[in-house]
Amino acid sequence: MGSATAYYLARRGLSVRLFEQYAIGHDLGSSHGYSRIIRRAYFEHPDYVPLVDRSFELWRELEAESGENLLTVTGIIEMGTPGSELLKGSALSCAAHNIPHERLSATQIRARFPQFAISDDMEGIWQKDAGILAVERCILTYRFQARKHGAILHEEEEVLALQADAAGERVTITTRKGSYAARKAVVCAGAWSSRLLSELKLPLTVERQALGFYRPLERAPFELGTFPLFIMQIGGQSFYGFPLFGVDCVKVAHHHGGVTVTPDTVDRLFGYEDDRLLRAFLKQYIPRAAGKLKLGKICLYTNTPDYNFILDQHPQYRNVLIAAGFSGHGFKFSGVVGEIMADLAESGRTRHPIGRFELRRFKN
Ligand SMILES: Cc1cc2nc3c(=O)[nH]c(=O)nc-3n(C[C@H](O)[C@H](O)[C@H](O)COP(=O)(O)OP(=O)(O)OC[C@H]3O[C@@H](n4cnc5c(N)ncnc54)[C@H](O)[C@@H]3O)c2cc1C
Repeated sequence: MGSATAYYLARRGLSVRLFEQYAIGHDLGSSHGYSRIIRRAYFEHPDYVPLVDRSFELWRELEAESGENLLTVTGIIEMGTPGSELLKGSALSCAAHNIPHERLSATQIRARFPQFAISDDMEGIWQKDAGILAVERCILTYRFQARKHGAILHEEEEVLALQADAAGERVTITTRKGSYAARKAVVCAGAWSSRLLSELKLPLTVERQALGFYRPLERAPFELGTFPLFIMQIGGQSFYGFPLFGVDCVKVAHHHGGVTVTPDTVDRLFGYEDDRLLRAFLKQYIPRAAGKLKLGKICLYTNTPDYNFILDQHPQYRNVLIAAGFSGHGFKFSGVVGEIMADLAESGRTRHPIGRFELRRFKN
């Protein structure tokens, strides 16, 4: 979110410095692991659909500007029992925004995608416009393009403090290397947001998430273009996964259900329990993908109580802006979030609907 915001601000000709405590593209936060899903039939809430649609445009625009290939459309199959939140939510977004989709029975799903061993009581929604974002490449592209437009990058330079004046005209950013004065600051600190903005006592919790990369028993059924993106809700649990992409493996993960951690204390090793959970899912529902574990990664979700984002001004300082709490579903929106934060920094206003993301919803 920080790299995207720096890019959109720099592109408008504003003078921008981007501070990152590690090297941009690192794997200690929330934005690594080869791939991210972008999907339109947004089960979380129909209000996100216009923002996803703008994001699709912005990803294509960034590809055109940079010459990079960032977004690969594959389609997604979402599966669950008919009453599941996943299918109800997706159907609601499809209806509210006229999103083309197909409703499939278990038999139809198994006929179209024989990789899935699902039971007869499940159904699915197929939505062809969903795709995969090459997450690290996206971030490095923002970084490179931001710099091309004049942003100054301060990598491996942790922000220790932000101090705004009461008049809202100046913010001082302090690092070990020095202090910098700015008219505005946009804080996009992911899992570290509560630490940097400790005075706000943000209602954020950081959740550990494990990503497993399994070498399938046969390659062909899991190739990009053959195997779709999927989300499957089984009872209260959701799993999702990807075709072979970026690495010669099917990537699979459990959405939420991880332990609460902090970025300093999280166990960053993909362990036996992580493998056990993901392998049991694969064995039951996608048995031909349950081969050798090739790689495991740990990623962090930064959750708000309602799992909606925070995109807002600091309640005391109007020249400090906050983009945080992406609750495990933010990456696809990085373009539009960058655009929104650039709007707020430039003029205090945006044409995008962001009422859902106000900080004050957590008061009282
Ligand atoms: C396993 C997993 C799967 C996901 N799948 C999807 C998906 O399919 N689709 C989707 O849309 N979203 C997905 N998400 C969510 C999405 O990736 C995140 O919402 C998004 O990447 C969050 O971006 P961010 O910029 O807020 O956080 P980060 O990328 O973590 O960036 C915050 C940055 O701030 C830096 N920082 C923090 N404090 C300081 C400081 N004091 N000084 C300097 N730098 C600092 C950190 O080092 C970090 O680089 C997934 C997340 C995970 C973990």
